[in-house]
Amino acid sequence: MLLSQVAATDAFSALRERMVREQIEARGIRNPAVLGAMRSTPRHEFIPKGAGPAYGDHPLRIGFDATISQPYVVALMTELLKPEKTHRILEVGTGSGYQAAVVSQLVSWVYTIEIVPELARSARENLARLGYANITVRAGDGFAGWPERAPFERILMTAAPVEIPAALIAQLANGGRLVAPVGPSRFQELVLVEKSADGRIRRSSHGGVSFVPMRRK
Ligand code: SAH
Repeated sequence: MLLSQVAATDAFSALRERMVREQIEARGIRNPAVLGAMRSTPRHEFIPKGAGPAYGDHPLRIGFDATISQPYVVALMTELLKPEKTHRILEVGTGSGYQAAVVSQLVSWVYTIEIVPELARSARENLARLGYANITVRAGDGFAGWPERAPFERILMTAAPVEIPAALIAQLANGGRLVAPVGPSRFQELVLVEKSADGRIRRSSHGGVSFVPMRRK
């Protein structure tokens, strides 16, 4: 590698490389586009100072009762979503904006809703500062989805509902996929909902996860 390229590589890229190898590839994530996005997204830029090591194998608190998910869980959900370059996707639970930043590299546009106005504002500012130009952040209640922008080819929930809101199933395009942690309290199952070309729903389960519960306004 040229010296100029070494200088251009940020100091955290070695940590990210190790994160991808030891936490993500080692657990079976194979989609090269997903691995590439995990390698290139500066996770440390989405974490408040003092929250802990950005590239560790665990979630981190980001304030307002929100957490940024464990890197593996971000990668797993992104892989299950099967994002494609032409897709417009809806995320419920912007939090830090990290998951939105990861998936934005794989789709055409990300619409993301956050119920805590302070988090929505800081995620919006941070994403703009870092140069992510295909993400729209809205402060609001994700239970209603984003009807003005529907339908979405993909929907990703990063706060857990007890049951998937009917409005979100309705806003999923035919042929679409929705990924969500579903269940009570802090222990849920990761659910994939597939909507067929003629609008039928198939649901499958992909293991246990722990997300913050979705809250009501
Ligand atoms: N995807 C985020 C992690 C989100 S943590 C990241 O990468 O950082 C879950 C987030 O969902 C929290 O920020 C929480 O405030 C938000 N949330 C909870 N209930 C919600 C609701 N009804 N609508 C929208 N966002 C909600």
